[in-house]
Order: sequence, then C-alpha cells, then structure tokens
Amino acid sequence: MNLILLGPPGAGKGTQAERLQDAYNLVQLSTGDMLREEVKSGSDLGKTAKEIMERGDLVPDDLIIKMISGRIDQNSGGDGIILDGFPRTTAQAEALDRMLDEKGLKMDHVIQITVDEDAVVERISGRFSCAKCGMGYHDHFKKPKVEGVCDKCGSTEFTRRADDNADTVRSRLAAYREQTAPILPYYEAKKALKAVDGMGGIDEVYARIKAVIEEG
Ligand code: ADP
Ligand code: ADP
Ligand code: ZN
Repeated sequence: MNLILLGPPGAGKGTQAERLQDAYNLVQLSTGDMLREEVKSGSDLGKTAKEIMERGDLVPDDLIIKMISGRIDQNSGGDGIILDGFPRTTAQAEALDRMLDEKGLKMDHVIQITVDEDAVVERISGRFSCAKCGMGYHDHFKKPKVEGVCDKCGSTEFTRRADDNADTVRSRLAAYREQTAPILPYYEAKKALKAVDGMGGIDEVYARIKAVIEEG
C-alpha cells in the first residue's frame, strides 16, 4: 500500500506517518527530513536548501524531484511507502505520477489532514524531536513518558527545528496556501483525495485515517 499525507506545516503528517509505518509496515519518505539531513551533511543540495528552508520558502522542484526519485528507487524492505511533505506543488505531483508509472507503482490513498491555522501554529511552536532517532514530541500534546528521555531510543538529547519560529511559520503557511493547496484539485479530479479532520488528539486523528484506509 502506498500513501500520500497532505496538509499544512504542523498538521501532524510526521506524527501520523510514524504510527502508520509501524501498523502497515511502510517506509516513510519525508522530503523535509531528507533535506535536513542534506543540510547537516553540508552537501551541495544542503547548502542550497538551508537558506530557503530558514526563510520558509519551497526548495526548487527539480532538486526535490531528483532527491525523492532516488529514494523511491531504493525503497524495498517494506510493504509500501508513505510520502510526507511531498508532493508540494503541481509540478511535483505531475513528476510523482510519472515516477510511479515508470516504476509500475500506484498511490492507494491521498489523505489530506485538515487543521485550523491557529492549531498548526500551536502545534509547531511546541514541537521538538529526539536528536538521536528523530521521534517527534510536543511540549503539551505529546510529552515523552519519562520527562527528558526519548520513549523510542532512551536518548536524553532533543532538538528544535530552526524554522519552527513565528516568522518562518507565517511564510511556510503562505507557501502552503499559494503553492501546495492548489494540488488538492489535482487529486480531487482523479477521485483520489480523502480529507480527514485533523483537529483533536493524535489517537483520534489516527483512528480517522485508519478508517479511511480500511474503507478501501
Ligand atoms: P507535520 O509533519 O505535519 O509538520 P508533526 O507531525 O511534526 O507535523 O506535528 C507537529 C507537532 O504537533 C508535533 O510536536 C506533534 O507532536 C504535534 N501533534 C501532531 N498531531 C497532533 C494532534 N492531533 N494534536 C496535538 N498535537 C499534535
Ligand atoms: P512541515 O511539514 O513541518 O512544514 P517539512 O519538514 O515537510 O515541514 O519541510 C520543511 C521545509 O523543507 C519546507 O519549509 C521547505 O523549505 C522544504 N521542503 C520540504 N519538502 C519540500 C518539497 N516537497 N518541496 C519543496 N520544499 C520542501
Ligand atoms: Zn529517540
């Protein structure tokens, strides 16, 4: 099974992808995580992407498409993929369709997580993650079970994203409205889009997504 999770920054895509990948044995492909790794490693792509990400703008389509295409190729070891944070523009959605065609794959569900803007700002401003394994947390909504210790790997080091600040969040929301929201009609026209209410707790939203998947 192959899935796309769509939704504004902070909607809960990464959080839900983490649960779905365990439940359905999928491989999560997050272009945001890939780009952060490129930035960390200091690669050419990372150098180009760093400033763009700090501003809250989108990295150019050609660079993203090249990066993700390699990952879809490498993907094995699971029963499918979850795309999180990709596609983000109509050009990326079209490129994805071409890639899937070439590889003989298809998307089973395109799930749009809908959330109020106030809620995403609240979610983003409390977001942090484990520095070692990347597990995501929130200051109020998803605290580690033992304070200061990662549930998944036991590490005591955590990080916050440089772009999770009030200014950049505004640019990221604008980029979503202007460049990403226009891909919704693309998937609607293909009768592939399923909207899920992303307001409410993490378990509640997960149950809604699962119901959509199991409806077929
Ligand atoms: P995205 O990948 O869409 O940017 P994340 O999954 O990183 O979003 O979620 C953003 C923040 O909000 C994280 O700190 C996460 O723990 C928290 N979060 C995710 N889903 C919910 C929810 N349904 N209710 C409250 N907080 C949530
Ligand atoms: P979120 O969902 O929380 O906004 P991501 O981790 O998906 O964050 O993305 C962080 C940043 O990485 C984006 O603001 C953008 O600069 C860049 N980025 C990630 N994925 C893409 C993509 N598919 N196309 C263009 N830029 C991207
Ligand atoms: Zn960890």
